[in-house]
Parts: sequence; structure tokens; C-alpha cells
Amino acid sequence: MRTQICHGRVIASLVGCTALVLGVTGTAAAHDQHRDPARQVLGANDGWGSYGTGTTGGAAADAAHVYTVTDWDGFKAALADGGSAPKIIKVKGVIDADGPSCDSFQVPGYDFDAYLATYDPAVWGHDKTLDDEPDDSPEGLRRASAANQDAYIKATVPANTTIIGVGRNAGFNGASLQIKDVDNVIVRNLAFESPLDCFPQWDPTDTADGNWNSEYDSAVVYGSTHVWMDHDTFTDGDHPDSTLPSYYGRIYEQHDGELDIVKGADYVTASWNVFEDHDKTILIGNSDSASTAAVDRGHLKVTFHHNLFSNLVERAPRVRFGQVDSYNNHFVAKDGYGYSYGIGMESQLVAQHNAFTLPDGIGAGTILKRWNDSPLTADDNYVNGKRVDLIAVHNAEVPTEILRSGAGWTPTLRTRIDPVRAVPGIVDHRAGAGRLH
Ligand code: CA
Ligand code: CA
Repeated sequence: MRTQICHGRVIASLVGCTALVLGVTGTAAAHDQHRDPARQVLGANDGWGSYGTGTTGGAAADAAHVYTVTDWDGFKAALADGGSAPKIIKVKGVIDADGPSCDSFQVPGYDFDAYLATYDPAVWGHDKTLDDEPDDSPEGLRRASAANQDAYIKATVPANTTIIGVGRNAGFNGASLQIKDVDNVIVRNLAFESPLDCFPQWDPTDTADGNWNSEYDSAVVYGSTHVWMDHDTFTDGDHPDSTLPSYYGRIYEQHDGELDIVKGADYVTASWNVFEDHDKTILIGNSDSASTAAVDRGHLKVTFHHNLFSNLVERAPRVRFGQVDSYNNHFVAKDGYGYSYGIGMESQLVAQHNAFTLPDGIGAGTILKRWNDSPLTADDNYVNGKRVDLIAVHNAEVPTEILRSGAGWTPTLRTRIDPVRAVPGIVDHRAGAGRLH
């Protein structure tokens, strides 16, 4: 039996490396690819992203389709160049994607004070939305301003692309990666500071008190297949929700998700990432509606392993419809913790071999949140070093929201499973951007 370097690990067979050595042969070529993380592909059996044709991103790029970018315009130009030919985009340094200022996106006539005065609940009430407001209204001017920001901070990723940070300090401030309706994308070694929506929309009808709602996830996988998110960091960084103001007595929420996976997206592996300091973190499936169900049912297959989920409020992830496998992750809860796994409509979550670190006063029963009566599989999970049956403790603590056991499927696309007691040490030291080899 030959020994081969595969995805940074020594394994005792070539079988797992067939995708890696695509187009080249032998140990030397594999060694070269090992040295250049930009050429690495998702290993065989490494989660749902490895299903079928697997995830190779831009590993096969020719020299003309390898780009190194240092600013937002250059990044967007590289994305737009070369169609769906395999490409590698190397990101050097931390790129500002948020424009010079929020003011720079405003259309003439937009005035936030006028907006606040017009839609004050004392004036407008809570009965109707702002959807029918005309273009020259404060809401219409907000919409137009928001469209400017939308066009600027979103970057559309084509098929067969690898985007990778160079070295230990690469990423984006305020970017929103759109991985939309394409196949085969790899995003590695990048730190994403969450975008701030400059123009949150007031929805008077969202809860009895109304809510400020924001757009822009750091990355969204929308209708795409074969996506590998690896060694990335997602955080609110310098703009935590605690620094945001309130208007009408409601927090002026300027963040949306860190990584949302929606609209029939499929075959995603998220490994060795850090998701931290955020509220609504990962949404898998964004609606219970019949039209969304028709698109999502049978899809939304996602694997999470060796990720650190730290200081989050909720959605790590919240799941609808998908067969989601979550193993060997470390969850660290702090003040303001809501829940980790959201059990939504027709979800089929398998959560095994995970470690949870909860502070005093937060019960293990809050790890799971039942949005829907969808059975899940949860075993060999540890809370503060002790093995805990997450479903049983949830049902004991929240008897009005009983959860049932049995996701109805068994994950097979896993590589190494680490003993849970070792997971915090392994994940805390190796997950996130800047820690790729
Ligand atoms: Ca800036
Ligand atoms: Ca979102």
C-alpha cells in the first residue's frame, strides 16, 4: 500500500486522493499541490461537498486564470474575467469592500431624520408595511440608496473558482459573496468582517413592536452545488451589535447572516471555519412557504465539521429541509446566547461528536431550538466535558417543545472523527483564517 499526502493528511491509500491528483500523477505532483493550498481540492468523502463530482474549485486553472488581488475593484474584475474557466483568485491583505462611507451610497434627497419622522410608530402605526411607499417617499429614497450599496458590496462568484487568502492576514471588510446558481466553488483562508447595511428597512409589522431588518450575508450559497468553505473566519469584528443604536425602541440591526445556504443549494462542506461574535449566523433554507419547499426539499445537504462557533446568538445553523451533518464542532456560548441548532421544517439534522462550552446559568436544554417537529439525531455530544443527551435535556427543560429522535439517515461522507474531548483543543487552535498550514 502506498502512502500519499492528501489534503494535508497522510493516508494509507491512493483512493482518497483521486480528485487531488486530477490531471497529474504521482507523489511529486501531489506534493506540489500540497505546498500550494490554492490548488487543493476537497478530499474524497469529506462531507456533502465531496458528493458526486466533488469540489475542485479552480484547482485546474491555467496560468492565465490565476489572479492576485489587493483591492475590491481588482477582486471583482478577476471574478468577471474568463467566464467559467477554472480560476484561482488569491487575496492579499484585508480588502475594504464597504466603500468610502455609507453617505457615498445615498441618493439625492435621502434623509434619515425624515425617514424616522415619517415612519415613527406613533405616526405610522404597526398595521401596514412600507412596501407600497412611492419612489419619492423616505422609504423610496432608502430603497434607491440601498440599491447602490447592494451593487457595490456584492461580488458574484462564477463556477469553477477558488478564492483563497494569502498568508495569515487576508480577507474582506464588508463584502457579500454571492455564490449563486453555479457549481464548484472553494473559499479558503479568508476573514470576513460582516457587512453593515447602511440602510436597514423598518418593518412595522415584524413582531408587535416592529423591527429593523438588514440585507447582506458575508457569503450566501444560493442555488449552487459543490461548495467548500474552509479555514475562513466570519465575525462582526469592530462592529458588534452591542455598538448599534436603537430607534423606535428597537435595535437598529445592520447585520444579516454570516453564511446562508438557500434556494435549493446542495453539497456544501464547511470545515475548520470560525463563526464568531454575531447574532443570526447560518440559515439553511429561508422559508417554510410551499414555493420555497418545492425548491429546497431534497436539497440543502451540508456538512459542518471542525468549526468553532463562538459567542453567537442563534442559527449555528438553523435548518429547514436539509440533511445536515454536524460533527466535531466546538460551540462556545457567552452572554446573550439564544440557541445553536434550530430545528426547522422537514430538517434532518445529525449532530454527533460535538463539544459545547456553556457558561454558568445557561442550560444544555437551550442548545436545540424547536421551530418545527422534525426528528433529529443527536448523540455523543459533550457539554462542559460531560456527555449529554441533547434531546433528552432539551425535552426536560422545555417540555412544551418536545423534540423527537431519529433523523432518518446516516452520514457516510466523513473523514476522521476526533474523540469529542479532544475537539475543543483541536478546533480552537486550528480553525479559522490564517491557520491553513
Ligand atoms: Ca471602508
Ligand atoms: Ca440572509
